[in-house]
Amino acid sequence: MSTQSTVLEKFGNRFSFKLSKKSKLAFGYLCLMSLPFLATFSLDMADKTTYATLLTTVNVLAMMAFYLQFPLVSRLKTFSLFANIDWNVSHHKNIGKWLGLIFLLHPVLIIAPRFMVSFNDGMHSLISIITAPQMLTGIIAWVGMIIWILTAIFKDKLKVSYETWRFSHMLGLVAIMILATLHITSVGSHGQFQEKFNIIWWALCIASVTMVLYNYFIKPRILKSRPFKLIDVAQVSSTDWQVTIEKNDASGFDFEAGQFVWLNTNKSSGGVKEHPFSIASCQGDLPKVSFIIRNLGDYTSKLDMLNIGQNVYVDGPYGSINLAESAKSKAIVLIAGGAGIAPMLSLLRGLAEKNDPRPIRLIYGNNHSDQMVLQDEIKALEKTMPNFKQQMVCNEATNQDDIYQGVIDKDIIEKVINTEATHDWTVYLCGPKPMITGLNKSLKSLKIPKAHIHFEQLSF
Ligand SMILES: Cc1cc2nc3c(=O)[nH]c(=O)nc-3n(C[C@H](O)[C@H](O)[C@H](O)COP(=O)(O)OP(=O)(O)OC[C@H]3O[C@@H](n4cnc5c(N)ncnc54)[C@H](O)[C@@H]3O)c2cc1C
Repeated sequence: MSTQSTVLEKFGNRFSFKLSKKSKLAFGYLCLMSLPFLATFSLDMADKTTYATLLTTVNVLAMMAFYLQFPLVSRLKTFSLFANIDWNVSHHKNIGKWLGLIFLLHPVLIIAPRFMVSFNDGMHSLISIITAPQMLTGIIAWVGMIIWILTAIFKDKLKVSYETWRFSHMLGLVAIMILATLHITSVGSHGQFQEKFNIIWWALCIASVTMVLYNYFIKPRILKSRPFKLIDVAQVSSTDWQVTIEKNDASGFDFEAGQFVWLNTNKSSGGVKEHPFSIASCQGDLPKVSFIIRNLGDYTSKLDMLNIGQNVYVDGPYGSINLAESAKSKAIVLIAGGAGIAPMLSLLRGLAEKNDPRPIRLIYGNNHSDQMVLQDEIKALEKTMPNFKQQMVCNEATNQDDIYQGVIDKDIIEKVINTEATHDWTVYLCGPKPMITGLNKSLKSLKIPKAHIHFEQLSF
């Protein structure tokens, strides 16, 4: 257990409340974010107006949140605060939108009071700010930030590949962060009030750049030193592949059922040409690791072009879904939509390995019946596991009695669970974002406690 969670737990026990995992992360994040702000109390800012102090507070907090955007996406699994990739990515996105707004308003909030004095005074200040040479870094960072946030919000509408977008997003934000640091350390209030304060900003800037350099230059070398081998690519449904790789004995790679990795099948172990996929096998299958991958686009449609025996670079494992979360539950439901079957299969195989006697139900949905993968294995588990049943759900009408026609919804979950004691069940779900959002609402209405619902989305 990490030091951070132990401290939080003690705090929680003392004041008799229990923090959920996500609340702990949010609390830890907010504590970290407020550190430079707390450091401002050591500065002599007595001659500042209330409005200027308010602006300083917002700017200092926003700037720290900007630096924290880097560890949020740096896959720092050894730091418990930054190890939950799903939480990190969703907060990285939301915080990014807030930062865009704060950056946008930053000059407006500074100049607005001058316009309130008089229009001429406001215009004079505006012109002198725009034309001052020392403001150039700030102006470029401001324009750059707004453009970069907009390209992130509308990335699906841009006609560029995900990889191109991801690389330019990283490069642009590193440049904006350096320019913003130059700006705050040269014209920001803290540069004026006390130069020593700037050491904090430069240390944060260097730490952020170091994380990027580690991910793009050092980590690829580490991954290259422990390549996996591709041993099989097989089509397992009309739209899905099963890809199997084998770990190098010296790699020390291990994982828990339900986790995911970034796979890179290129010649180079670095760059942005890597894709996240959930592991479908269980620990007992090691050294082999398998994936169920849906043919969806540029990369996933050409998996049969890979060469058996070639190197595959694996970054991971990551992800917080695991069987320990349901250790105390009386029963388990696994809900999979499309390619979401991969981590559910991993959990199911893990449960089968232990011959788990609890009621275990798999609800597996697809648009078409020919998209259901590995049915021989799943049906065999219905016979060999003590209490396991699968319910297939299909959008398209079929003549198979064992398939429920429609989408995975509250009705089918209720039918499958068929019990009053819903609080005893743990639910794992994986699939596309709209399915996860919809099912979270259904599970809530079925009175399954939030803490018993664990999910993985197939997109960031
Ligand atoms: C945590 C996680 C686990 C996943 N597990 C599985 C799985 O087990 N099986 C499966 O079939 N799919 C899984 N996916 C989805 C899979 O990563 C994408 O379908 C795949 O990367 C699409 O690549 P493409 O080039 O073929 O498709 P494209 O048509 O290029 O992209 C389709 C969409 O996939 C996303 N995407 C594309 N490239 C990347 C990338 N390099 N990194 C992140 N997202 C990308 C983008 O949102 C894009 O809009 C998972 C995704 C995540 C986030």
